[in-house]
Amino acid sequence: TTLVADLNARLRDVPDFPKPGIVFKDITPVLADPRLFGRVINAMSAPFRGQHVTKVVGVEARGFLLGAPIALALNAGFVPARKPGKLPHRSVVERYSLEYGSDGVEMHEDAILQGERVLVVDDVLATGGTAEATARLVSRLGGELVGFSFLLSLDFLEGPNRLGRERVTTLLTF
Ligand code: IMP
Repeated sequence: TTLVADLNARLRDVPDFPKPGIVFKDITPVLADPRLFGRVINAMSAPFRGQHVTKVVGVEARGFLLGAPIALALNAGFVPARKPGKLPHRSVVERYSLEYGSDGVEMHEDAILQGERVLVVDDVLATGGTAEATARLVSRLGGELVGFSFLLSLDFLEGPNRLGRERVTTLLTF
């Protein structure tokens, strides 16, 4: 069976989470299956093999779960991008607006060195606000963005357009 079919069979839709009207795509059943988890890591890494990625940035929190094994698969370092106020060392922050209010992402200022080649990883691409802010952090630190890798994209929210389609790789699209 294909990876897409197996993912479709395992991803769980949770209606009205975290708010009424939102159907949350739950990836935990995928992570719980070692064979499927391994295939996901392989497939999310494959387009970036041979592209000399030196750092993989994983976005809190599910981006950590996928980003860390992808970093190892690409022989790159792993960097966490966290919600503001959680990192212990000197950090840089980027804010982005949500439908109601704003949010932010933060990285250690020494997490990426000038000229490093960076892949940004998260589980779900929705509006693209989080990934776009993460990419701004990468470029502020002097990194070169190689691309974005997501397990799934909610394309009707226009994330790929916001980030630039040619830079975005996803295993599944809704
Ligand atoms: P965006 O900034 O609107 O693209 O939202 C993406 C962020 O929200 C990512 O960090 C995702 O983990 C999270 N997210 C949005 N929708 C879902 C979902 O249905 N399942 C899991 N995470 C989601």
